[in-house]
Amino acid sequence: MRRTKIVATIGPATADTGSLRDLLEAGVDVVRLNAAHADMETHSANVRRVRELSQVLGRSIGTLVDLPGPKIRSGVIACGEVELANGQEFVLSGSDDGQGDERHVATTLNDLAQWVCPGDDVYLADGAIVLRVLQSLGDDVRTEVVRGGTLRSRKGMHLPRAEAHVEPFTERDALALEMAIAAKVDFIGLSFVRRAEDVERVRAMLPKRGVRPALVPKIETATAIDNLDGIIRTADAVMVARGDLGIQMPARSVPLLQKEIIRHCNLAGKPVITATQMLESMTRSPLPTRAEVNDVANAVLDGTDALMLSEETAVGLYPSQAVRMMSEVAESAEGWPRQRVAPEASGADGDRVAWAVAHAAVQAAEELGVAAILCPTRSGQTAHRVAAFRPNVPIAGISTSSQVLGDLSLVWGVRPLVVAANSDPGEQLRLAVVAARGAGLVREGDLLAFVFGSAGPRAGSTDSVRIVRV
Ligand code: PGA
Ligand code: MN
Repeated sequence: MRRTKIVATIGPATADTGSLRDLLEAGVDVVRLNAAHADMETHSANVRRVRELSQVLGRSIGTLVDLPGPKIRSGVIACGEVELANGQEFVLSGSDDGQGDERHVATTLNDLAQWVCPGDDVYLADGAIVLRVLQSLGDDVRTEVVRGGTLRSRKGMHLPRAEAHVEPFTERDALALEMAIAAKVDFIGLSFVRRAEDVERVRAMLPKRGVRPALVPKIETATAIDNLDGIIRTADAVMVARGDLGIQMPARSVPLLQKEIIRHCNLAGKPVITATQMLESMTRSPLPTRAEVNDVANAVLDGTDALMLSEETAVGLYPSQAVRMMSEVAESAEGWPRQRVAPEASGADGDRVAWAVAHAAVQAAEELGVAAILCPTRSGQTAHRVAAFRPNVPIAGISTSSQVLGDLSLVWGVRPLVVAANSDPGEQLRLAVVAARGAGLVREGDLLAFVFGSAGPRAGSTDSVRIVRV
């Protein structure tokens, strides 16, 4: 049974219900909707389709809406794509005629000319193409291509001087956030976060009560690396967004930063997703490269909770094959004995009792070789804490709330299981065993560990371990 979770981005490649179903059946745990593309109606409809299919498949599948943030993009290329050659001139236009070609393209940045000086480098196509600024002409900017390549419509653009000044939360983000809250999605990805306050600002926009999505800042700027621990502290989960991180920092430092970010998340007991280009060649080929297989396996060995697919499943030719490949590689890497990074004793939330009880439960469960650790949980926190110790026995996160189950879909090693509500504590444990049996986690006569928080004033905290034979 694979323990690393898989996040898959959906898009045109999975637009019809048949291919979406194939994709989810291949083992997707969380579906990512990229608000940088498509309109909000399409995204809400997709959230509904994922929920329906999750019912059909009898498995909790989480939903993540990724807010684009102030990502600067180049405009539309009228014929789809153009080749830019080294040494040619290329104009970045201040006004958008929607007719980009091999001579010019628009950008989503207002006052473009204000943010460049002659000699600056500007990156197009997510960093693949480099332009050197020659001169500003009114609202237009004349450049020379110093590294050519293929430019397609609406690709990520990088202007070092502008990025420190742009507002981290845009109008498009506000619209997408509203849609995500209305659709009750489980996670919100926050792009280009620079510091903890960027996360707190969005948290203040969430509903004060009821269902609230978890916030997942994406680590993809140099400033975010400087403020990593503060961001992790305010986050519910974190994404290692290697695509933009590899533009904002030298690409050679990304593998090392990935290890560092994952280790800090493991120490804080927060789930972490490793993202971007993991099986990139599978957008066009049914088989990944050896390097990609190594990359997926190494992210697992680094201690990631989840692995993410982007273009592979959104626009690729082999979406469900990519999920299956990722799943097999991850499961195989999990068999390798690795040093576990246990969360800090104080616990990320300062609840020392809860973390110590979760730790004790994991030690007892492993020593006794129990069949599974069952965590009946109201907030999901008990299952989070148990998973943070990376036990070598299965974990079930058991809840009456689809929201809690959605949240647990991202957490390493946790099988989210639904139970009917019951106010009698003894009956709650019995129902948990029934659910675990239904999921094939336990059989008659097995030894089990229960970890839970007793009802009462400390509800939400983890305070009890019980070992039982069923
Ligand atoms: P994006 O984020 O795909 O939204 O750009 C991920 C990354 O930058 O790696
Ligand atoms: Mn990004």
